[in-house]
Amino acid sequence: MARRADHTNKLRHYMAVAAATIAIVGCSSDSNDAGSAKVTAFVPVYSAAGIKAEERELPDLVKPGALEGKSFNIVVDAQFELDWYKVWALPANEMAQAMAKSPGRAPQLDLPGKRYNDAGGREYNLIGYYYNLTRAKAFFDRMGFDTARLGRIAAHYEPAVGIVYACEGREPQRIAFKDNATYNMANNTFMALPADKLTGVRPHLNVGVMVHEYAHAALHSAVDQIALRKGSALEANTKNASLNVLKSYDEGTADYLGAVATNDPAFVERTIPGSGRSLAQPKTFDAQMEQDLQLDWNDNYCVAMAGKQVKEEHDIGAVWAAAMYQVGEQVGHETLAKALLAMWPDIAAEVKQKATIDFSALGALLLARLGEDKAPTLCAALKQGFGVAIALPSACQTTLPPDDGLPPDDGTLPPDDGTPPDDDPPPDDDPPPDGNA
Ligand SMILES: [Zn+2]
Repeated sequence: MARRADHTNKLRHYMAVAAATIAIVGCSSDSNDAGSAKVTAFVPVYSAAGIKAEERELPDLVKPGALEGKSFNIVVDAQFELDWYKVWALPANEMAQAMAKSPGRAPQLDLPGKRYNDAGGREYNLIGYYYNLTRAKAFFDRMGFDTARLGRIAAHYEPAVGIVYACEGREPQRIAFKDNATYNMANNTFMALPADKLTGVRPHLNVGVMVHEYAHAALHSAVDQIALRKGSALEANTKNASLNVLKSYDEGTADYLGAVATNDPAFVERTIPGSGRSLAQPKTFDAQMEQDLQLDWNDNYCVAMAGKQVKEEHDIGAVWAAAMYQVGEQVGHETLAKALLAMWPDIAAEVKQKATIDFSALGALLLARLGEDKAPTLCAALKQGFGVAIALPSACQTTLPPDDGLPPDDGTLPPDDGTPPDDDPPPDDDPPPDGNA
Protein backbone atom coordinates (compact mmCIF):
# COMPACT_ATOMS: atom_id res chain seq x y z
CA MET A 1 0.00 0.00 0.00
CA ALA A 2 2.68 2.36 0.85
CA ARG A 3 6.10 3.27 -0.24
CA ARG A 4 8.77 3.25 2.37
CA ALA A 5 12.46 3.86 2.45
CA ASP A 6 13.38 0.22 2.28
CA HIS A 7 13.01 -1.68 -0.92
CA THR A 8 11.10 -4.70 0.15
CA ASN A 9 7.81 -3.33 -1.05
CA LYS A 10 8.89 -1.95 -4.37
CA LEU A 11 7.64 -4.74 -6.49
CA ARG A 12 4.46 -5.78 -4.86
CA HIS A 13 2.23 -4.14 -7.43
CA TYR A 14 3.84 -6.03 -10.20
CA MET A 15 2.23 -8.90 -8.49
CA ALA A 16 -0.09 -9.90 -11.11
CA VAL A 17 -3.37 -11.40 -11.44
CA ALA A 18 -3.71 -14.97 -11.20
CA ALA A 19 -6.52 -17.13 -11.86
CA ALA A 20 -6.11 -19.50 -9.02
CA THR A 21 -6.58 -18.84 -5.37
CA ILE A 22 -4.29 -20.82 -3.17
CA ALA A 23 -6.10 -23.69 -1.57
CA ILE A 24 -6.60 -23.07 2.09
CA VAL A 25 -6.30 -25.94 4.48
CA GLY A 26 -8.91 -25.05 7.02
CA CYS A 27 -8.84 -26.72 10.36
CA SER A 28 -11.68 -25.09 12.16
CA SER A 29 -13.86 -27.63 13.85
CA ASP A 30 -17.56 -27.89 13.27
CA SER A 31 -18.10 -26.80 16.85
CA ASN A 32 -16.81 -23.39 15.76
CA ASP A 33 -19.31 -23.18 12.99
CA ALA A 34 -22.12 -21.17 14.43
CA GLY A 35 -23.82 -20.49 11.12
CA SER A 36 -25.57 -17.17 11.15
CA ALA A 37 -25.12 -16.52 14.87
CA LYS A 38 -24.54 -12.88 15.72
CA VAL A 39 -20.93 -12.39 16.74
CA THR A 40 -19.63 -9.26 18.40
CA ALA A 41 -16.05 -8.42 19.26
CA PHE A 42 -13.77 -5.51 20.08
CA VAL A 43 -12.57 -4.04 16.80
CA PRO A 44 -10.46 -1.06 15.70
CA VAL A 45 -12.76 1.88 14.97
CA TYR A 46 -11.01 4.52 12.88
CA SER A 47 -10.99 8.24 13.31
CA ALA A 48 -8.41 10.83 12.32
CA ALA A 49 -7.72 11.27 16.02
CA GLY A 50 -6.73 7.61 16.39
CA ILE A 51 -7.96 4.04 16.58
CA LYS A 52 -10.28 3.05 19.40
CA ALA A 53 -11.27 -0.49 20.32
CA GLU A 54 -15.05 -0.74 20.46
CA GLU A 55 -17.47 -3.63 20.41
CA ARG A 56 -19.13 -4.21 17.04
CA GLU A 57 -20.88 -6.99 15.22
CA LEU A 58 -18.69 -8.96 12.81
CA PRO A 59 -20.69 -9.16 9.59
CA ASP A 60 -21.16 -12.03 7.14
CA LEU A 61 -19.42 -14.75 9.12
CA VAL A 62 -19.97 -18.30 7.99
CA LYS A 63 -17.52 -19.99 10.38
CA PRO A 64 -16.90 -17.47 13.17
CA GLY A 65 -14.14 -19.39 14.95
CA ALA A 66 -12.19 -19.60 11.70
CA LEU A 67 -12.92 -15.96 10.78
CA GLU A 68 -14.33 -17.26 7.55
CA GLY A 69 -16.98 -15.06 6.02
CA LYS A 70 -18.84 -14.71 2.77
CA SER A 71 -16.29 -12.31 1.30
CA PHE A 72 -13.06 -12.99 3.19
CA ASN A 73 -11.39 -15.81 5.06
CA ILE A 74 -8.45 -15.16 7.34
CA VAL A 75 -5.42 -17.45 6.95
CA VAL A 76 -2.46 -17.72 9.30
CA ASP A 77 0.99 -19.33 9.05
CA ALA A 78 1.26 -19.31 5.24
CA GLN A 79 4.63 -18.95 3.54
CA PHE A 80 5.42 -17.41 0.15
CA GLU A 81 8.46 -16.77 -1.96
CA LEU A 82 8.13 -14.00 -4.50
CA ASP A 83 10.72 -14.28 -7.22
CA TRP A 84 9.14 -11.97 -9.75
CA TYR A 85 11.41 -12.65 -12.68
CA LYS A 86 10.72 -16.34 -12.30
CA VAL A 87 7.01 -15.91 -11.58
CA TRP A 88 6.43 -13.55 -14.51
CA ALA A 89 7.99 -15.99 -16.91
CA LEU A 90 5.21 -18.48 -16.15
CA PRO A 91 1.73 -18.78 -17.66
CA ALA A 92 -0.83 -16.86 -15.59
CA ASN A 93 -2.44 -20.01 -14.22
CA GLU A 94 0.89 -21.21 -12.79
CA MET A 95 1.94 -18.01 -11.03
CA ALA A 96 0.11 -18.58 -7.76
CA GLN A 97 1.48 -22.06 -7.29
CA ALA A 98 5.01 -20.87 -8.00
CA MET A 99 4.83 -18.42 -5.09
CA ALA A 100 3.20 -20.69 -2.52
CA LYS A 101 5.54 -22.45 -0.14
CA SER A 102 3.04 -23.37 2.57
CA PRO A 103 -0.73 -22.77 2.38
CA GLY A 104 -1.31 -21.91 6.03
CA ARG A 105 -4.49 -22.61 7.94
CA ALA A 106 -7.57 -20.98 9.34
CA PRO A 107 -7.25 -19.44 12.80
CA GLN A 108 -9.13 -21.08 15.66
CA LEU A 109 -10.88 -18.61 17.91
CA ASP A 110 -13.48 -19.21 20.56
CA LEU A 111 -16.20 -17.34 18.67
CA PRO A 112 -18.97 -16.82 19.42
CA GLY A 113 -18.19 -17.17 23.07
CA LYS A 114 -15.14 -15.47 24.48
CA ARG A 115 -15.01 -11.65 24.44
CA TYR A 116 -11.60 -10.85 23.07
CA ASN A 117 -10.85 -7.37 24.34
CA ASP A 118 -7.08 -7.25 24.54
CA ALA A 119 -6.44 -4.45 22.05
CA GLY A 120 -2.82 -5.45 21.57
CA GLY A 121 -3.39 -9.17 21.33
CA ARG A 122 -3.16 -11.52 18.39
CA GLU A 123 -6.90 -12.27 18.41
CA TYR A 124 -7.70 -8.55 18.33
CA ASN A 125 -5.42 -8.19 15.30
CA LEU A 126 -7.03 -11.13 13.51
CA ILE A 127 -10.55 -9.93 14.26
CA GLY A 128 -9.69 -6.33 13.42
CA TYR A 129 -8.24 -7.38 10.08
CA TYR A 130 -11.42 -9.28 9.21
CA TYR A 131 -13.60 -6.43 10.42
CA ASN A 132 -11.75 -3.75 8.44
CA LEU A 133 -11.90 -5.81 5.25
CA THR A 134 -15.68 -6.08 5.65
CA ARG A 135 -15.84 -2.29 6.21
CA ALA A 136 -13.82 -1.79 3.03
CA LYS A 137 -16.21 -3.99 1.06
CA ALA A 138 -19.20 -2.16 2.59
CA PHE A 139 -17.74 1.14 1.35
CA PHE A 140 -17.48 -0.19 -2.21
CA ASP A 141 -21.04 -1.55 -1.96
CA ARG A 142 -22.21 1.88 -0.85
CA MET A 143 -20.39 3.50 -3.79
CA GLY A 144 -22.30 1.28 -6.20
CA PHE A 145 -19.49 -1.14 -7.08
CA ASP A 146 -20.45 -4.74 -7.81
CA THR A 147 -18.35 -6.42 -5.11
CA ALA A 148 -19.93 -9.82 -5.78
CA ARG A 149 -17.61 -10.17 -8.77
CA LEU A 150 -14.64 -10.43 -6.40
CA GLY A 151 -15.93 -13.63 -4.79
CA ARG A 152 -14.34 -14.64 -1.52
CA ILE A 153 -10.71 -13.60 -1.05
CA ALA A 154 -8.22 -15.21 1.31
CA ALA A 155 -6.62 -12.67 3.64
CA HIS A 156 -3.26 -13.79 5.01
CA TYR A 157 -2.28 -12.60 8.44
CA GLU A 158 1.47 -12.28 9.02
CA PRO A 159 2.53 -14.70 6.30
CA ALA A 160 6.26 -15.30 6.02
CA VAL A 161 7.05 -13.69 2.67
CA GLY A 162 10.48 -13.62 1.09
CA ILE A 163 11.04 -11.45 -1.97
CA VAL A 164 13.90 -12.58 -4.15
CA TYR A 165 15.83 -9.93 -6.03
CA ALA A 166 18.17 -11.03 -8.76
CA CYS A 167 20.12 -8.05 -9.97
CA GLU A 168 22.57 -8.40 -12.79
CA GLY A 169 26.08 -9.00 -11.55
CA ARG A 170 24.96 -9.64 -7.98
CA GLU A 171 24.07 -12.69 -5.95
CA PRO A 172 20.26 -13.05 -5.62
CA GLN A 173 19.01 -11.67 -2.33
CA ARG A 174 16.02 -12.81 -0.31
CA ILE A 175 14.44 -10.04 1.74
CA ALA A 176 11.64 -10.54 4.25
CA PHE A 177 8.55 -8.51 3.34
CA LYS A 178 7.27 -6.73 6.47
CA ASP A 179 5.53 -3.62 7.77
CA ASN A 180 3.02 -3.38 4.97
CA ALA A 181 -0.23 -4.66 3.54
CA THR A 182 -0.83 -5.71 0.00
CA TYR A 183 -3.25 -7.14 -2.49
CA ASN A 184 -1.36 -9.73 -4.50
CA MET A 185 -2.88 -10.05 -7.94
CA ALA A 186 -0.81 -13.09 -8.79
CA ASN A 187 -2.66 -15.25 -6.29
CA ASN A 188 -5.67 -13.05 -5.51
CA THR A 189 -4.98 -12.67 -1.81
CA PHE A 190 -4.63 -9.93 0.73
CA MET A 191 -1.62 -9.94 3.00
CA ALA A 192 -1.13 -8.18 6.32
CA LEU A 193 2.62 -8.52 6.71
CA PRO A 194 4.44 -8.99 10.02
CA ALA A 195 5.41 -5.88 11.95
CA ASP A 196 9.04 -4.92 12.25
CA LYS A 197 10.01 -1.25 12.30
CA LEU A 198 6.68 0.41 11.64
CA THR A 199 5.83 3.06 14.20
CA GLY A 200 2.28 4.01 13.11
CA VAL A 201 -1.02 2.15 13.20
CA ARG A 202 -0.55 -1.33 11.76
CA PRO A 203 -1.91 -1.40 8.19
CA HIS A 204 -4.67 -3.97 8.79
CA LEU A 205 -5.95 -1.94 11.75
CA ASN A 206 -6.24 1.17 9.55
CA VAL A 207 -9.50 0.84 7.63
CA GLY A 208 -8.27 3.39 5.08
CA VAL A 209 -5.40 1.08 4.19
CA MET A 210 -7.81 -1.84 3.83
CA VAL A 211 -9.95 0.30 1.49
CA HIS A 212 -6.75 1.06 -0.45
CA GLU A 213 -5.96 -2.65 -0.84
CA TYR A 214 -9.55 -3.56 -1.64
CA ALA A 215 -9.43 -0.91 -4.38
CA HIS A 216 -6.54 -2.80 -6.00
CA ALA A 217 -8.57 -6.01 -5.95
CA ALA A 218 -11.62 -4.23 -7.33
CA LEU A 219 -9.69 -2.48 -10.10
CA HIS A 220 -8.02 -5.72 -11.04
CA SER A 221 -11.42 -7.37 -11.31
CA ALA A 222 -12.32 -4.69 -13.88
CA VAL A 223 -8.98 -4.33 -15.69
CA ASP A 224 -6.91 -7.51 -15.86
CA GLN A 225 -3.42 -6.20 -15.30
CA ILE A 226 -1.72 -9.58 -15.67
CA ALA A 227 -3.18 -9.94 -19.12
CA LEU A 228 -1.94 -6.42 -19.89
CA ARG A 229 1.56 -7.28 -18.84
CA LYS A 230 1.84 -10.61 -20.52
CA GLY A 231 2.84 -9.82 -24.07
CA SER A 232 0.04 -7.34 -24.52
CA ALA A 233 -0.36 -4.82 -27.28
CA LEU A 234 -0.29 -2.17 -24.56
CA GLU A 235 3.20 -3.10 -23.51
CA ALA A 236 4.43 -3.60 -27.03
CA ASN A 237 2.95 -0.32 -28.18
CA THR A 238 4.08 2.01 -25.46
CA LYS A 239 6.97 0.24 -23.76
CA ASN A 240 6.46 0.89 -20.06
CA ALA A 241 4.70 4.22 -19.90
CA SER A 242 1.11 3.05 -20.29
CA LEU A 243 1.49 0.24 -17.78
CA ASN A 244 3.13 2.65 -15.37
CA VAL A 245 0.33 5.19 -15.84
CA LEU A 246 -2.15 2.45 -15.02
CA LYS A 247 -0.18 1.41 -11.93
CA SER A 248 0.06 5.02 -10.78
CA TYR A 249 -3.64 5.56 -11.38
CA ASP A 250 -4.28 2.35 -9.40
CA GLU A 251 -2.24 3.60 -6.42
CA GLY A 252 -3.59 7.14 -6.54
CA THR A 253 -7.20 6.10 -6.84
CA ALA A 254 -6.72 3.60 -4.00
CA ASP A 255 -5.36 6.42 -1.81
CA TYR A 256 -8.25 8.67 -2.79
CA LEU A 257 -10.89 6.06 -1.99
CA GLY A 258 -9.21 5.38 1.36
CA ALA A 259 -9.42 9.10 2.12
CA VAL A 260 -13.10 9.25 1.18
CA ALA A 261 -13.96 6.17 3.23
CA THR A 262 -12.21 7.50 6.33
CA ASN A 263 -13.01 11.15 5.70
CA ASP A 264 -9.31 11.64 6.41
CA PRO A 265 -6.95 12.81 3.65
CA ALA A 266 -4.00 11.91 5.87
CA PHE A 267 -4.98 8.30 6.60
CA VAL A 268 -1.71 6.96 5.15
CA GLU A 269 0.21 9.19 7.53
CA ARG A 270 -1.45 7.42 10.49
CA THR A 271 0.34 4.25 9.42
CA ILE A 272 3.48 5.70 7.85
CA PRO A 273 4.29 9.05 9.47
CA GLY A 274 6.30 11.13 7.04
CA SER A 275 5.07 9.30 3.94
CA GLY A 276 4.20 12.58 2.22
CA ARG A 277 0.97 10.97 1.05
CA SER A 278 -1.52 13.40 2.60
CA LEU A 279 -4.02 14.17 -0.15
CA ALA A 280 -4.78 17.64 1.16
CA GLN A 281 -1.30 18.74 0.08
CA PRO A 282 -1.23 19.51 -3.68
CA LYS A 283 1.49 17.74 -5.64
CA THR A 284 3.14 18.12 -9.00
CA PHE A 285 4.16 15.63 -11.66
CA ASP A 286 7.80 16.57 -12.05
CA ALA A 287 10.51 16.05 -14.64
CA GLN A 288 11.93 13.00 -12.88
CA MET A 289 8.51 11.36 -12.79
CA GLU A 290 8.11 12.01 -16.48
CA GLN A 291 11.45 10.34 -17.11
CA ASP A 292 10.92 7.44 -14.73
CA LEU A 293 7.53 6.68 -16.25
CA GLN A 294 9.50 5.15 -19.14
CA LEU A 295 11.40 2.69 -16.93
CA ASP A 296 10.63 -0.93 -16.28
CA TRP A 297 9.72 -0.62 -12.61
CA ASN A 298 10.46 -4.28 -12.07
CA ASP A 299 14.06 -3.14 -11.96
CA ASN A 300 13.54 -0.54 -9.24
CA TYR A 301 15.29 -2.51 -6.55
CA CYS A 302 18.32 -3.11 -8.70
CA VAL A 303 18.37 0.53 -9.77
CA ALA A 304 18.24 1.53 -6.10
CA MET A 305 21.12 -0.82 -5.35
CA ALA A 306 23.08 1.20 -7.88
CA GLY A 307 22.28 4.38 -5.96
CA LYS A 308 19.26 5.90 -7.73
CA GLN A 309 15.78 6.12 -6.27
CA VAL A 310 13.10 5.71 -8.92
CA LYS A 311 9.89 7.74 -8.69
CA GLU A 312 7.29 5.03 -9.13
CA GLU A 313 3.58 4.36 -8.83
CA HIS A 314 3.18 5.57 -5.25
CA ASP A 315 4.90 8.88 -5.98
CA ILE A 316 3.06 9.51 -9.24
CA GLY A 317 -0.15 8.08 -7.78
CA ALA A 318 0.09 10.65 -4.98
CA VAL A 319 -0.11 13.41 -7.62
CA TRP A 320 -3.29 11.85 -9.04
CA ALA A 321 -4.71 11.35 -5.53
CA ALA A 322 -4.09 14.98 -4.54
CA ALA A 323 -5.69 16.18 -7.79
CA MET A 324 -8.72 13.96 -7.10
CA TYR A 325 -8.97 15.33 -3.59
CA GLN A 326 -9.13 18.87 -4.94
CA VAL A 327 -11.85 17.87 -7.39
CA GLY A 328 -13.79 16.02 -4.69
CA GLU A 329 -13.72 19.09 -2.46
CA GLN A 330 -15.60 20.88 -5.25
CA VAL A 331 -17.94 18.28 -6.69
CA GLY A 332 -18.48 16.14 -3.59
CA HIS A 333 -16.21 13.25 -2.63
CA GLU A 334 -18.84 10.53 -2.94
CA THR A 335 -19.86 11.81 -6.37
CA LEU A 336 -16.25 11.62 -7.50
CA ALA A 337 -15.63 8.24 -5.83
CA LYS A 338 -18.65 6.79 -7.65
CA ALA A 339 -17.47 8.21 -10.97
CA LEU A 340 -13.97 6.76 -10.44
CA LEU A 341 -15.42 3.32 -9.73
CA ALA A 342 -17.86 3.51 -12.63
CA MET A 343 -15.08 4.37 -15.10
CA TRP A 344 -13.00 1.23 -14.55
CA PRO A 345 -14.68 -0.76 -17.32
CA ASP A 346 -14.17 2.33 -19.53
CA ILE A 347 -10.43 2.08 -18.90
CA ALA A 348 -10.45 -1.57 -19.91
CA ALA A 349 -12.31 -0.69 -23.12
CA GLU A 350 -9.95 2.21 -23.89
CA VAL A 351 -6.87 0.06 -23.36
CA LYS A 352 -8.29 -2.68 -25.55
CA GLN A 353 -9.15 -0.26 -28.31
CA LYS A 354 -6.10 2.01 -28.34
CA ALA A 355 -3.36 -0.10 -26.75
CA THR A 356 -2.18 2.98 -24.89
CA ILE A 357 -3.30 5.04 -21.89
CA ASP A 358 -2.10 8.28 -20.35
CA PHE A 359 -3.33 10.72 -17.71
CA SER A 360 -5.01 12.83 -20.33
CA ALA A 361 -7.10 9.85 -21.46
CA LEU A 362 -7.89 8.97 -17.85
CA GLY A 363 -9.04 12.54 -17.30
CA ALA A 364 -11.29 12.36 -20.34
CA LEU A 365 -12.85 9.07 -19.19
CA LEU A 366 -13.45 10.50 -15.75
CA LEU A 367 -15.01 13.62 -17.18
CA ALA A 368 -17.39 11.50 -19.26
CA ARG A 369 -18.62 9.86 -16.04
CA LEU A 370 -18.68 13.07 -14.01
CA GLY A 371 -20.43 15.22 -16.57
CA GLU A 372 -19.20 18.03 -18.80
CA ASP A 373 -20.24 20.69 -16.31
CA LYS A 374 -17.38 19.48 -14.09
CA ALA A 375 -14.77 20.17 -16.79
CA PRO A 376 -13.43 23.44 -15.32
CA THR A 377 -12.93 21.83 -11.90
CA LEU A 378 -11.36 18.64 -13.22
CA CYS A 379 -9.21 20.43 -15.79
CA ALA A 380 -7.88 22.92 -13.27
CA ALA A 381 -6.86 20.11 -10.90
CA LEU A 382 -5.23 18.06 -13.68
CA LYS A 383 -3.49 21.14 -15.00
CA GLN A 384 -2.11 21.90 -11.58
CA GLY A 385 -1.02 18.33 -10.88
CA PHE A 386 0.12 17.18 -14.30
CA GLY A 387 0.55 20.40 -16.24
CA VAL A 388 4.27 19.88 -16.67
CA ALA A 389 3.96 16.97 -19.02
CA ILE A 390 0.43 15.80 -19.50
CA ALA A 391 -1.84 17.03 -22.25
CA LEU A 392 -5.29 17.83 -20.93
CA PRO A 393 -8.40 16.03 -22.09
CA SER A 394 -9.71 17.72 -25.21
CA ALA A 395 -12.83 18.85 -23.38
CA CYS A 396 -10.58 20.98 -21.20
CA GLN A 397 -9.10 22.93 -24.06
CA THR A 398 -12.20 25.00 -24.58
CA THR A 399 -13.14 25.46 -20.96
CA LEU A 400 -9.85 26.39 -19.37
CA PRO A 401 -9.05 30.02 -18.83
CA PRO A 402 -5.65 31.11 -20.21
CA ASP A 403 -2.66 30.06 -18.13
CA ASP A 404 -2.27 33.42 -16.46
CA GLY A 405 -5.84 33.15 -15.27
CA LEU A 406 -5.22 29.94 -13.35
CA PRO A 407 -5.50 30.00 -9.61
CA PRO A 408 -2.30 30.00 -7.58
CA ASP A 409 -1.06 26.65 -6.25
CA ASP A 410 -2.78 27.03 -2.94
CA GLY A 411 -5.21 24.17 -3.33
CA THR A 412 -8.12 26.37 -4.20
CA LEU A 413 -10.08 25.93 -7.38
CA PRO A 414 -12.41 28.23 -9.27
CA PRO A 415 -16.11 27.53 -8.91
CA ASP A 416 -17.12 25.15 -11.67
CA ASP A 417 -20.01 27.10 -13.09
CA GLY A 418 -20.81 29.73 -10.57
CA THR A 419 -23.19 27.56 -8.62
CA PRO A 420 -22.33 25.63 -5.50
CA PRO A 421 -22.04 21.87 -5.98
CA ASP A 422 -25.47 20.44 -5.33
CA ASP A 423 -25.12 17.01 -6.82
CA ASP A 424 -23.73 15.34 -3.78
CA PRO A 425 -25.94 12.46 -2.82
CA PRO A 426 -27.98 12.88 0.34
CA PRO A 427 -26.60 11.24 3.47
CA ASP A 428 -26.87 7.49 3.32
CA ASP A 429 -30.02 6.20 4.97
CA ASP A 430 -28.13 3.18 6.16
CA PRO A 431 -24.67 4.30 7.17
CA PRO A 432 -22.12 1.74 8.25
CA PRO A 433 -22.35 1.04 11.99
CA ASP A 434 -19.37 3.14 12.98
CA GLY A 435 -19.60 5.52 10.08
CA ASN A 436 -15.94 5.08 9.24
CA ALA A 437 -15.99 3.12 6.02
ZN1 LIG B 1 -1.25 0.11 -3.18
